[in-house]
Parts: sequence; structure tokens; C-alpha cells
Amino acid sequence: MHVLILGAGVVGLATAHVLAAEGHRVTVLDAERAPGRGASFANGGQLSYSYVAPFAGPGVIGKVPGWLLDPDGPLRFRPQFDPHQWKWLLAFLRACNAGQAARTTAALLALAALSRTLTREVVALPDMAFDFAPSGKLVLQPDAAAMAGAVRQMELQAKLGSEQRALSREECVAAEPSLRHLAHRIEGGILTPSEEAGDARLFCEALALRLARGNQAVSFRMGLRARQLVRAEGRIRAVVTDEGVIEADQFVLALGNGARALTVPLGLDLPIYPLKGYSLTLDVADEAEAPRISITDSAAKVVYARLGRRLRVAGMADVVGDDARIEEKRLDTLIRQARAAFPKASDWREIRPWAGLRPATPTGLPLLGAARAAPNLWLNLGQGSLGFTLAMGSAAMVAAMIEGRATPIPAEPFAPG
Ligand SMILES: Cc1cc2nc3c(=O)[nH]c(=O)nc-3n(C[C@H](O)[C@H](O)[C@H](O)COP(=O)(O)OP(=O)(O)OC[C@H]3O[C@@H](n4cnc5c(N)ncnc54)[C@H](O)[C@@H]3O)c2cc1C
Repeated sequence: MHVLILGAGVVGLATAHVLAAEGHRVTVLDAERAPGRGASFANGGQLSYSYVAPFAGPGVIGKVPGWLLDPDGPLRFRPQFDPHQWKWLLAFLRACNAGQAARTTAALLALAALSRTLTREVVALPDMAFDFAPSGKLVLQPDAAAMAGAVRQMELQAKLGSEQRALSREECVAAEPSLRHLAHRIEGGILTPSEEAGDARLFCEALALRLARGNQAVSFRMGLRARQLVRAEGRIRAVVTDEGVIEADQFVLALGNGARALTVPLGLDLPIYPLKGYSLTLDVADEAEAPRISITDSAAKVVYARLGRRLRVAGMADVVGDDARIEEKRLDTLIRQARAAFPKASDWREIRPWAGLRPATPTGLPLLGAARAAPNLWLNLGQGSLGFTLAMGSAAMVAAMIEGRATPIPAEPFAPG
């Protein structure tokens, strides 16, 4: 069976890896010349298997006005004359209820657990150097009320298999001494020792190299934009590119935010919207001053991950359309927050900034499965702020469906509507 995978981000490459290992002939296509140049490029670096609660939670609607009024707030909204933006926002607001959030969390925890097992198998392969570290993760809480809420969530997740511990302020600093500059504005934190971190771009590059060089039959068509899916007699027959047509038996859409441009002409209006985020990458100047444990500052909604000799800082969710340009004001905010938290971690002379677009669904659940438009068109899309974490699990799910096997976990929560 020849499978054409559209998209060489972390999701597409994970899918190629699983399908090639099953013995299929795989072609990966991407508009960029190198893998991992989209949302996967300089993300937060967190393999966040236990922190999967969706952005659309029951408390979010009440908090949104405060965030929007705060110029340094984690959320920004620029209204546009774009029906897709409004449709997505309405669906997001509808998803902001306790029932949906609990269903999403349970489904994502199962997918993340599957992903963890499979990602660890990939980590163990030769030549998979991507600054991976079993770093654990500490989520800081600003006050007693936030801490009490975090403990309740921890107790809930304990029933679903998560192993976490509540730490006081002093215990947080004892576990991660570089936190001492932040300690005055935290109540405590939740430590999850099993969380991991790594560089998603390096992961993509290493995996692509393995696939291209290995005995498996994977070929890459890089620097080639897909323009159109050709449907005939109810099936997808080919993809039209700038350099002709590519035929295959099965087609996997792993194009992140690029997917809608190909599906809308087929009558498929996917609920995926670009949620813009920012990151900084800093060289570590003083080992003792940069965190080894991944840190989430839950009040500022900023994450920190140690990637070898570098520190990755990421945050913000801007609803501003398909626009990945860096806004200086937003960047300055992130630099200020990071510098206040870990002032001596870097000399702050070379700050490598990046902005990327998370391919987000309103509920936070990715779309995994056959598209309504054709039985051989498979969606592996919409992993939002968890694409690195969920890539391997999502790939295993879609590969099982393509092969007509039972999926490793129930597929129903992820079924494209
Ligand atoms: C600031 C930020 C921080 C994040 N932090 C984390 C984190 O800590 N942990 C985590 O798990 N996730 C995180 N994420 C989310 C994660 O990065 C994404 O979910 C993930 O990268 C999505 O992968 P993808 O392969 O679906 O999309 P992409 O990586 O965007 O890949 C899609 C590919 O499709 C290609 N493409 C698009 N259209 C076409 C076309 N027409 N023809 C050919 N090619 C095309 C693009 O060039 C691109 O290479 C973060 C995201 C951001 C923005």
C-alpha cells in the first residue's frame, strides 16, 4: 500500500515512522525544504503527558475579559471579517463547560499515555538526538486558591493514573533551586516526575533522517506545495503539486493549519484555527541558574524547558488569524517575564525569538480518522498546544485505522465530526 503523508511536521513524521515500520511504502511531502519548519519548529519542548486539560475549561469565560484588558496577558484577540474565526470562537465558548472539559481531559490522558510509551521507543532508537531529558515538570501556583484548585485536579487525575505530588513554596525551591527569584510570588506547585522534554525541531530532523536513510521505504518530496486533492468516484486519487501530480492509495493530512485550504474545496470545513504563540531560546550562561525541571508559571501561562545547554521559554495564545509575524510588544512581554523569573540563567545577549501557530480545535481534541469527503483521506490534525506530546499516539491511532485494525485506545472521542 502506498501512503502519501502531507506534512513533515512532528505529526506527519510520526505517522510516517509508524506506517513505514508496518511495511508500507510511504511518501512524505512538505512545502518547506526541511522538516519541522511549521508549528513544530521552536515550541515549548514539553512532553506533557499529564497536563492535557484543554484551554476550553469551565472557568475560562470569566477570566477572558481580565486577560484581554491586561497588555501583558496570555491571551490576545484581534477580531477579523472572517466567518471561520467567529465560528471557531463560538464553538470554543460552547466547549467551555465542565462536562466537555472532563471528557476532553480523559480522552487526552489516554492518548498521551499511549504517546509516552511510543515516544520512549523512539527515544531509544540510535541517532535520535533531540536534547531529550526525563526532566519532570513543576507547575507553579500563585496563591492558596489556585493551589487548592490544582490539588483537586491532581486528586482527580490520580484516579486516571497520573502520579503527581503537591509541594509547598519551600519544597519547590528545594526541588529546583533556580526558582528562588520566583519564590516570593508562588504558593506552591504540583510536581509530575514522569514528564519529559525535548526539542521538537531536532526530533523532526532526526526522525526524517532515519526514515530517509533506513531500510524502510520512505521517500521525501520537500519544497513542494500541495495545491489540490483530486477526488474521483468517491476516493482521493492524487494530490496536485507545483511539480505535477502524486498518486497514492491512502492520503494522510498532517498539514496542521495548512489542511483547510485543501479540504474546503471538497466541502470539508475543518474546525481548526491558528492560535499564535511565542518562544525564546537562550544559551544557558550559568547551569545552576537555569531550571533542570520543566517549569510552568501558571499565573503568567509561560513554560520553561531545559534543552541541553539551552533554555526554551514559550507562552501566549493570540487569536489573530493566520499571521506568524513576531509582534515586538508581545515578544518584549515574554522576555521581561522570563528575565524576572530566571535573571541569571542567560546573559540575555542572544535571544532567539520565534512565533508559531498551534493548529487548535475548539475542544482541544485532535481529529483522528477518515474524512467524510473520502474513505481513503485520513485526518491527523488539530493537536493544538500538545502536538509534540501527542504525535506518536496520534500516529499509532491513524495507522491502525488505515490498516483496518482495532485502535490501541478508543477512537470515538477523536472522530472527525
Ligand atoms: C509557542 C508554542 C509552544 C508550544 N509548546 C508545545 C509544547 O511544549 N509541547 C507540545 O506537545 N506541543 C507544543 N506546541 C504545539 C505543537 O508545536 C504543535 O501542536 C505541533 O507542532 C503541530 O504539529 P503538526 O505536524 O500538526 O503541524 P506543523 O508542524 O505545522 O506541520 C505541518 C506541516 O505542513 C506543511 N504544509 C502546510 N500546508 C502545506 C501544503 N499545502 N503543502 C505542503 N506542505 C504544507 C507545513 O510546511 C508544515 O511543515 C506549541 C506550539 C506553539 C506555537
